[in-house]
Amino acid sequence: MNISISGAGYVGLIQAAGLAKLGHKVVCVDVDREKVQKINDKKPPIYEKGLKTLIQRLVPKRLTATTNLRDAVLKSQITFVCVGTPSMIHGEIKLHQMQKICEDIGQVLREKKAPHVVAIKSTVVPGTCQTIVVPTLERTSGKKLGDGLGVTMNPEFLREGSALEDFFSPDRIVLGSSDQKSIDALKTLYTSFKCPILETNFGEAEMIKYASNAMLATKISFINEIGNICKKMGIDTNKVAKGVGLDYRIGPHFLRSGIGFGGSCFPKDVSALLHKSLELGYHARILRAVLDVNKDQPLKFLELVENTLGNIKGKRIALLGLTFKAETDDVRESPSLSIIKEFVMQQAQLYIFDPMGIPAVRTLFPQLNYAKSAQEAVDKAEIVCILTEWPEFKKVGYGEKMVIDGKNVFETDKRPKNYQGICW
Ligand code: NAD
Repeated sequence: MNISISGAGYVGLIQAAGLAKLGHKVVCVDVDREKVQKINDKKPPIYEKGLKTLIQRLVPKRLTATTNLRDAVLKSQITFVCVGTPSMIHGEIKLHQMQKICEDIGQVLREKKAPHVVAIKSTVVPGTCQTIVVPTLERTSGKKLGDGLGVTMNPEFLREGSALEDFFSPDRIVLGSSDQKSIDALKTLYTSFKCPILETNFGEAEMIKYASNAMLATKISFINEIGNICKKMGIDTNKVAKGVGLDYRIGPHFLRSGIGFGGSCFPKDVSALLHKSLELGYHARILRAVLDVNKDQPLKFLELVENTLGNIKGKRIALLGLTFKAETDDVRESPSLSIIKEFVMQQAQLYIFDPMGIPAVRTLFPQLNYAKSAQEAVDKAEIVCILTEWPEFKKVGYGEKMVIDGKNVFETDKRPKNYQGICW
């Protein structure tokens, strides 16, 4: 099948590379010329395990990129929409990218005779497809849903760091629409996947994405809360989490306490759902608490550093880890950023290292010292803060230096000599 994908970011590019590997002919469309150029030059604009090899194999035979939406839409049968839906100040999502891309796609569809399906992968609050996406596409294309125009909500569940793995082995595929023909078109595309395919209406598909992320974020804040209590009582939170996770009704995943969740999804999605519920006159107390606990975790980490160092001013601190999790270059909403800001305000002397996150953070904090390796940062500092669970941090020689771990990096018997964990 010929597929076009609007928005070649973390979601769009993985979808594109995955579908191209399955044998489809895929073209990515992005407004960012540099990104488009990089993809056509076989250089992935983001870091994701396995992506570089795949792109080198697939470009230009089955995968290309362009800024020309018209061409891409006219030459394809399905367009996936993967543009950003960032947060506004009170948590509601900005839909301007979504609105614009729907208008642009609709205008192209006006001149297309053959039927076309638009599949929304961007995360949008329940009601968006019904009240914005479909009306905009209908108005600009002059077509009606189900009559030459298909629209399906196909939420994305990938985890950055193992996104390609998730593409090829999804737990489930959700297809939401009021138009069965659009759902069937996408089912054809996904026939090789063995997972359950759940058919829903628009709102259910939109809400499944939010409820899934809210559940995962809740598990993290829950174990952080338990961890904060355990820390005060001298109880090993990791043992507690292990014991709790062995209950099959609970499961072991997302029960690692630490400095809290970040990334482009959990904080944004929980805030958006909370905001939507407030708009509807319902105060979602669990969601509020999930965000509150999460906001406090970096402060707890800073407290530990202050308790160890006393006054932070002028102290030499190695800060290992910038990305919100390991195996990605994504620093969006990373807890490291709020910790860096606090250290900068208190005039600490920072030596920063991350295997993938430095370029993005350097644009935010160009004046700071970035080391070439974790060891170099550690050697220059009097205390070490670990903020991302990169496996290579286990191999650094810490000597006698105090290591404060926000990510539970070490097994209990392999910890550095002088060591403190945020919740353990
Ligand atoms: P991103 O910022 O990495 O990518 C978005 C891309 O869209 C950018 O490259 C941008 O230039 C492009 N774009 C914006 N307007 C455009 C237009 N009119 N035409 C063409 N391209 C345009 O974002 P992302 O992380 O890939 O997330 C995309 C969506 O998927 C968001 O709604 C996000 O919430 C959701 N999502 C993200 C993840 C994740 O792990 N990153 C997982 C699941 C869902």
